Parts: sequence; structure tokens; C-alpha cells
Amino acid sequence: MIKISKIFISVLLSAFLLTGCFNSDDAAVGNGAGKVEVPNLDAVKQMIIQYRDSGDWGRDIESAGDRGVALLRSAYNQNDTQAVVFDIDETLLDNYENLKADKFAVVKESSNAWIASAKAPAISGTKKIYDEAVSKGINVFLITGRAEALRAATVNNLNAAGYTKYERLITHDTTGETALVYKSAARAALEKEGYQIILNVGDQDSDLLGGHSLHTLKIPNPMYILN
Ligand SMILES: [Mg+2]
Repeated sequence: MIKISKIFISVLLSAFLLTGCFNSDDAAVGNGAGKVEVPNLDAVKQMIIQYRDSGDWGRDIESAGDRGVALLRSAYNQNDTQAVVFDIDETLLDNYENLKADKFAVVKESSNAWIASAKAPAISGTKKIYDEAVSKGINVFLITGRAEALRAATVNNLNAAGYTKYERLITHDTTGETALVYKSAARAALEKEGYQIILNVGDQDSDLLGGHSLHTLKIPNPMYILN
């Protein structure tokens, strides 16, 4: 929800992969190796809605959640320094309702009002990883791109969605670094404290790249890219 820079690039590429081809009246741009057909942006938005409404998106997240639970179980060794890291937006909490209402643009005022409302539901596919970690006593850390000023609203929403047990919520009070730099540094700091991160779960590559976790798990999100 925060610092979104290239919202629809991944969507366009995903659309290309999903459809395999486009109507002849779609736009075409050169990529150095020939023409690449570019779908209409509104058509891509409809594809996202269809992905959601068909249940395919939810099923893909459930499958990812199953993989996450299996990874946790395989790495769990009862050591009390073991930890799992979760991103929040589009990983633990689902902002689709607000993003769809804003036609998949990110409107800061709308986004902040949505966060303040604490209405984002849990994402069941990833909540089962969270529940597995809590049931095993594995330390849970939440590393979010949300600012510290949004902490109270975020905690309210997490509680309402059933995420009541975690060691720490780490917010991004920025000095301008990218999500990738901030998040990987936060994981490195946890390691310095003595934690061993056995699984890192997020919907963005920037949640997951940069090391400092035994396993990573990507939750599908075709709506935006955060760097
Ligand atoms: Mg996210």
C-alpha cells in the first residue's frame, strides 16, 4: 500500500503470459526483438477482478499457504530462537476491497482511511502459516512498509483479523531506502539478536530478496509492485 512505484507493469506482463496473445487492435511496442502487444489497462483490471471472483487467486494463495506450512514443519527443531517473518499488506491482510474501489490506483488518502478503518480481512492461505507458527511457539515478526504513525490502526486491524500473537511489529519510518534494503536490514538485525529466521513470507520480491532467511515464500499479488 505504501511507496508503490510501478503498479501495473507486472500486471501487463502477467496478462501477456496468461493470454498468450492479444487482439490485433491492441497496441504494440518494440522491445528490441520485435513487437510486443500491450493489452488495454482496463482489460487488465478486469482480468484481476476475474482472477479474484473465479476463486483462482484464493486457491493459488491456499496452495502457497500449504507450501509454507510444510516448510515450517520441515525446518522446525524446537529451538526457541527460531522465527518466521511476515509482511502485512497482501500477505496477512487483504486490501483488495479498497484497491478495487480505487480502480487499482493507490490513493494515499483513501489508503490511510482504509488502514484506519481496520477492516482488512485476514488472508486465510497465509493465516494458516501464522497459526502453525504460533501453535509451535515459533517467534513471529511482522516487517511492514507501513509507517510508524499507522501502528495503532495496524495493530487494531491485526487483532480484528486474528493476528494477536507476535513478538514485534517493525514499521518503516523511512530514511528513503527501498523496501528491499529496509526489510533485509531488519531481518539481519533480528539475526544479530540471535534469531534464526526459518521462513520469510511476502507478496513482493522486495519482501523476500536480500537473504537472512532459510526459506522464502511468495504470495501471489497481481495488483502492484513495490521495490
Ligand atoms: Mg505486501
